[in-house]
Amino acid sequence: MPHKAVVIGAGTAGLVAAAALSLAEPALQVHVLDRDELPQGPENRRGVPQGRHAHLLMAGGLSAMEALFPVSVRDRLLQAGAHEIALGNGMLALTPDGGWFHRWKRSGPHMITCTRALTDWVLRQILLETRANVSVHQASVEGFLGDARHVRGVRLGPEADPGLGRELEADLVVDASGRGSGSLAWLAGIGISGVEEKKIDSGLTNATRIYRIPPGAESFPLTLVQANPYDGRPGRSAMVLPIEGDRWMVSAAGTRGGEPPRDAEGFLRYALDLPHPIIGHLIAGAEPLTDVAVSRGHSTDNNRRYFEKADQWPERLIVLGDALATFNPAYGQGMSVAALGAQVLALELQRHGLTGTGLSRRVLRGAARHVDTAWSTAVGVDVLFPGVVGAQPKAADRVAAWYTNRLTRAATGTYEAASALWDVTSLTAPATRALRPRALFAALTGPALPRRLEPPLQPSEQRILDRLTGAAHRPPTPRPSHTS
Ligand SMILES: Cc1cc2nc3c(=O)[nH]c(=O)nc-3n(C[C@H](O)[C@H](O)[C@H](O)COP(=O)(O)OP(=O)(O)OC[C@H]3O[C@@H](n4cnc5c(N)ncnc54)[C@H](O)[C@@H]3O)c2cc1C
Repeated sequence: MPHKAVVIGAGTAGLVAAAALSLAEPALQVHVLDRDELPQGPENRRGVPQGRHAHLLMAGGLSAMEALFPVSVRDRLLQAGAHEIALGNGMLALTPDGGWFHRWKRSGPHMITCTRALTDWVLRQILLETRANVSVHQASVEGFLGDARHVRGVRLGPEADPGLGRELEADLVVDASGRGSGSLAWLAGIGISGVEEKKIDSGLTNATRIYRIPPGAESFPLTLVQANPYDGRPGRSAMVLPIEGDRWMVSAAGTRGGEPPRDAEGFLRYALDLPHPIIGHLIAGAEPLTDVAVSRGHSTDNNRRYFEKADQWPERLIVLGDALATFNPAYGQGMSVAALGAQVLALELQRHGLTGTGLSRRVLRGAARHVDTAWSTAVGVDVLFPGVVGAQPKAADRVAAWYTNRLTRAATGTYEAASALWDVTSLTAPATRALRPRALFAALTGPALPRRLEPPLQPSEQRILDRLTGAAHRPPTPRPSHTS
């Protein structure tokens, strides 16, 4: 009998985990279970409510995906209409201290922008086209089978595919069921308790609306106004990013006290009132294609479960993706951390095999190292916002925040600082990359180029912005309401 693995959840983490399993163990039968009926195309669905908001795929996550899938994920996403953005010169970004990043000759790392639905759809298609041993089923997991030493499968809800039965035995179980994962309760069901958990919640609210790109503005760069965690006020930020189908996704985000509103007029006002009005100017005359979708509260907090430190951990159980840790989405890290964790799974399986003792622990420890990088980036900033719940900034946090602020400032006008910042935020290097001598020197001496108070636009981009800004100052015409 071939070995069998169960992956709980067909979100990004579940799909990359299935790719890792089938890469490392080609004879393994991999059952991916999701309680949602999965759409026949790149569509939003109930089990992934965050999918309506901006999802950046960072270089570190993309390169892990490239290693896990047998065809190029990048190429397939770009063929499907996704965009590739060079961090070095393909975007406009306003930093917390009011200076814009310089646009360098060298492109630096790239990130991919498209809807989250497209990313998951492309990953699922590649998996099902290229891996005969992977199958996807509709089933809701309700518990683990086995005991505290060894997980032997999962218990399913009554509405599961009838062919699966109510108890699905497996040689390996991967929980990739997202931030609402029942793993703590399921572990309690097999006699494991006391897993340390940490939640740090800045009260972030995300509000997103999709627009048709105004004719002629197709090449306008991704534009970002960052939140300021250093002035003691609520963080407020927004981003315009190109997605498939000649559309802009516009996501605003505010921490407790600075939340973006749901109504169309308020949403535009929010964008115009940011420290620079560019995003409001870009969208004021653009045609909205959806209403404003809002996510708030616990769906955006930083939440970490320290499974890798649990006193007791069963063989054959691995947790990846949001079920393991979630981060303030402002840094665009969740999908990448999931992919990097899946890459650890593939490497450990290749080294020690499915039945090797201690596999689960080794994978959890390896995945935790990637979580550490993302966690320190997100939490290091979030603790500074007023009203944060779950942590108060300590002296070490203030020193780290001071340094991040210095490095970001330096990155506006010194290439060494910019590239250190890109490597850490792209998850291609650990957080210590920001402390290498050249980055350190740049952070301490400040930017080499003068501070820019206006976005570094090329003449053609300036003309587009001027045209759209003109539209922003014309009185609004009434529009029919749209549904998302
Ligand atoms: C507002 C917002 C913006 C974000 N922006 C970014 C970004 O820019 N870049 C980035 O990399 N990340 C971003 N993230 C994070 C990203 O969404 C997640 O990290 C990523 O989706 C990985 O999630 P996952 O696959 O672990 O879980 P999910 O995507 O939540 O998928 C979990 C799946 O498990 C299924 N499921 C749940 N319970 C069960 C069960 N009991 N039985 C069977 N199936 C089950 C669900 O139906 C779902 O399909 C953002 C998050 C939020 C909230």
